[in-house]
Amino acid sequence: MPEPYWPKTKGYVLSNLNDGQRFVRIRCPSCKRTHHYFPTDLIAVVGDVDVDSLMYRMKCGCGGSHVLDVTTVIPSGSEAVGLKIRRLVAIKVKRVPVWKDD
Ligand SMILES: [Zn+2]
Repeated sequence: MPEPYWPKTKGYVLSNLNDGQRFVRIRCPSCKRTHHYFPTDLIAVVGDVDVDSLMYRMKCGCGGSHVLDVTTVIPSGSEAVGLKIRRLVAIKVKRVPVWKDD
């Protein structure tokens, strides 16, 4: 089987996960908190980026500077029932004034 010629660094983007059953699990190695996200919510926040790049793009609330553990999960029946998904409620846009002397 020949290797595909496109670069391997071209990863797997979030929209590839949008089949409604896969979630992104992000775990902070510092405070050990784990959250599950819908790919669509993450796309709204960071764009349709490479899943692997989330480990640098996402920040944990504990303020730790650790690289986060990012995995995609397809919860099986019983696991899916109790799975808490962290939903996006809103995106707050910070207004930053930019000044210029005329
Ligand atoms: Zn943390």
